Amino acid sequence: MRSAGLDFRSRELVLREFPDPAPPGPGEVLFRVHEAGICGTDRELASFHFGFPPEGESFLTLGHEALGQVIETGPGVAGLEAGDWVVPMVRRPCSPRCPSCARGRRDLCVSGGFTEAGIFGRHGYLRDYAVDDASDLVRIPEQLACRAVLIEPLSVVEKAVETALRIHEPGARTALVLGAGPIGILAAMLFRLRGLEVTVYSMEPPDHPRAKLLGRAGIRYAAELGSERVDIALEAAGSPAAAFAALRALAPLGVCGILGSPSASGEMPFLDLLRYNQAVFGTVNAGPDAFARAVEDLGALEADVLDSMISRERFEDIGRTLATPGAAAAKTVHVVAE
Ligand code: BGC
Repeated sequence: MRSAGLDFRSRELVLREFPDPAPPGPGEVLFRVHEAGICGTDRELASFHFGFPPEGESFLTLGHEALGQVIETGPGVAGLEAGDWVVPMVRRPCSPRCPSCARGRRDLCVSGGFTEAGIFGRHGYLRDYAVDDASDLVRIPEQLACRAVLIEPLSVVEKAVETALRIHEPGARTALVLGAGPIGILAAMLFRLRGLEVTVYSMEPPDHPRAKLLGRAGIRYAAELGSERVDIALEAAGSPAAAFAALRALAPLGVCGILGSPSASGEMPFLDLLRYNQAVFGTVNAGPDAFARAVEDLGALEADVLDSMISRERFEDIGRTLATPGAAAAKTVHVVAE
């Protein structure tokens, strides 16, 4: 089978052939990968900024946002059968399990001993076939399969939105999302679904396709930040400038979530935090609960907006799409099974 990933010896992206996987063992599921999305994490990986291959190997198959179809289930698998659509969860619990992993919240792993498919020590899904434990797969209703490749990024957003709403004391009414990439767009759509008034702030001009796409979803787009204050501000731009801007945009009791910014020095408004009882949190990855909500919400979000987020590319073109992010569509998806 084909696989696209990183050679950590030559430090380059390569397409390789691997033997097809063995039949699934007890509790396992063999599935055909149909689509794999790529994101900023994959671009960072391809620059060898972080990530590592499975133990004892020097190659890491990329692709942590995937959609597959079950070919065969191993002994003892219940709830999944051949033909079912599945999305794999990215993170696998540590061993021996830390308290978070032991209670099913691998996304909150405190030992750091977790692995992540396509990122940290476990192969991803830019390959024809994969075998995973059934417990790491999320079943997708047939009617959602056409956009279920968005489930993984949506699960990350579900966790962030749920955390922000939970922390905000009286219940938030307004949200500002900084960044109009896939995470920013999905976060804005989800806040709106939860009944909040949402603005997305990003650097694209107001006539940019993504700004228009947000408009179609009933979300205000701003290419410049005003002086209004919001209950929740979410940094989804991967930039410290956006993170500081998010902090400054908080109303009293406001909650700021950081999703992508690296560390940087700058002014931290501690006095406002304490004076106005504000909170800042960081969030990464998603647990089974967030994946379940993502499946539920994917069906409730505007289908045409989700569809226009996606640009589908050939498997072989992974080198090009990693090197040059698409300007118009928010999410590049590689079609693995033609
Ligand atoms: C993925 C997360 C993962 C993180 C690691 C993100 O792109 O969506 O699942 O935990 O990268 O940095």
